[in-house]
Amino acid sequence: MPETLEQSAGRFDTVLIANRGEIAVRIQRACRELGLKTVAICSEADRQAPYGKTADSFLCIGPSTAAKSYLNQDAILLAARLAGAGAIHPGYGFLSENAAFADAVEKAGLVFIGPTASSIAIMGDKISAKRAMMAAGVPCVPGPDTALPDDPATIERIALEIGYPVIIKAAGGGGGRGMRVVPKADVLHEAIALTREEARKAFGSRSLYMEKFLEHPRHIEIQVICDDHGNAVWLGHRDCSMQRRHQKVVEEAPAPGIAPDTIQPVGLSCVQACLQIGYRGVGTFEFLYEDGAFYFIEMNTRLQVEHPVTEMTSGVDIVQAQIRAAQGHVLDLIQGDVTCEGHSFECRINAEDPETFLPSAGVVTHLALPAGPGIRVDTHIHAGYKVSPYYDSLIAKLIVHAPTRAEAMARMREALAGTEVEGISTNIPFLRALFEDGAFAQGETDIHYLEQWLKLRRAA
Ligand code: ADP
Repeated sequence: MPETLEQSAGRFDTVLIANRGEIAVRIQRACRELGLKTVAICSEADRQAPYGKTADSFLCIGPSTAAKSYLNQDAILLAARLAGAGAIHPGYGFLSENAAFADAVEKAGLVFIGPTASSIAIMGDKISAKRAMMAAGVPCVPGPDTALPDDPATIERIALEIGYPVIIKAAGGGGGRGMRVVPKADVLHEAIALTREEARKAFGSRSLYMEKFLEHPRHIEIQVICDDHGNAVWLGHRDCSMQRRHQKVVEEAPAPGIAPDTIQPVGLSCVQACLQIGYRGVGTFEFLYEDGAFYFIEMNTRLQVEHPVTEMTSGVDIVQAQIRAAQGHVLDLIQGDVTCEGHSFECRINAEDPETFLPSAGVVTHLALPAGPGIRVDTHIHAGYKVSPYYDSLIAKLIVHAPTRAEAMARMREALAGTEVEGISTNIPFLRALFEDGAFAQGETDIHYLEQWLKLRRAA
């Protein structure tokens, strides 16, 4: 008798978590709640990591530099084999969007907790991503879905057709790099030459494309979750417009002031796109939103830092859902079941100077974390924890949930007031000030707002 879908599911019982910090804690918790064993890994700098003590196995895979540990594919695969892991969860950052790694994991006979290598590759190239999205009816930023040619006259014609200002982007770009805004025609060719050279050096491909530069957009994104059996849902939207140097600082769900009728077709087109490319697991479609219209910019084929705000509003445990999808289970959720309630904010607490934003490493000598209804803290630090200079400065995520946006803001103010970190500098004073800001309280600020606010504060 053939197996039922549920019988064929449960492809693994031990998960290696190929990451560090707060997300390693978050994933380990989800695994344990699902009855799975966990393998934690670390670099030499992270030997004291608290999630190492609570994992079933804990292996040091290399020196402190990420390139020799968290990015060392062979070391991670060897650790998985030694510890008997059946699957690898990549978390975010590091190898999470590396198609070659996803492929190597599957070739080693393990499950990669994420989409297939080919989905990652399609979405990792911004041109092929845009093409796939256009084909699925997802609204995109005006501009061709092909690479720019070398012929100067053709490039000029494309820019004129789009209309200035335009933005030149590296097809293989990421992390806010490999982009250049072109305000007018006389600097077009210089911008192309510079971006091509940057792209070749940083991303190993000189492929570029061009699109309309939107001047006052908001950053709004849609969370999706898909199984291996042709089912997909979207879990509402988030606003991540509060950015400094293209890095998100505060996120919220839902995005304020967006009518359900406006977002509904966009969410459905994201689901459609997932079904068309055979997407598996969790993913995020990022959009710029300006003058009532949505424009796709990229898809992140992994779990995101800001997933908790969606968990708080939708009630869905996104990490568990992601692991279950990788196990081959059928999604236990249909679109009609998804209801988002209340409002959630997330603050990224970084070990950095609140004025200069320079990273601050050292020992946490005192730590007090807030608690109470609607408050969640995702962190790996404790009093005595040594913040290492080697990695991202994120040390904790403070998340709140309340019935309305105003109540959620008040709750975040209280939560920030109750957070004390001593021994290192953090951005907490800056976050406290931001949550007192009138325009932010009104909502609907654009992606440039935070930088302008910082400039005004410095000048005052
Ligand atoms: P990356 O992969 O490097 O993060 P994205 O394509 O997601 O690059 O863009 C990063 C940021 O750059 C966006 O959040 C937005 O602030 C800005 N940006 C990208 N494309 C445009 C555009 N067409 N118009 C205006 N701003 C843009």
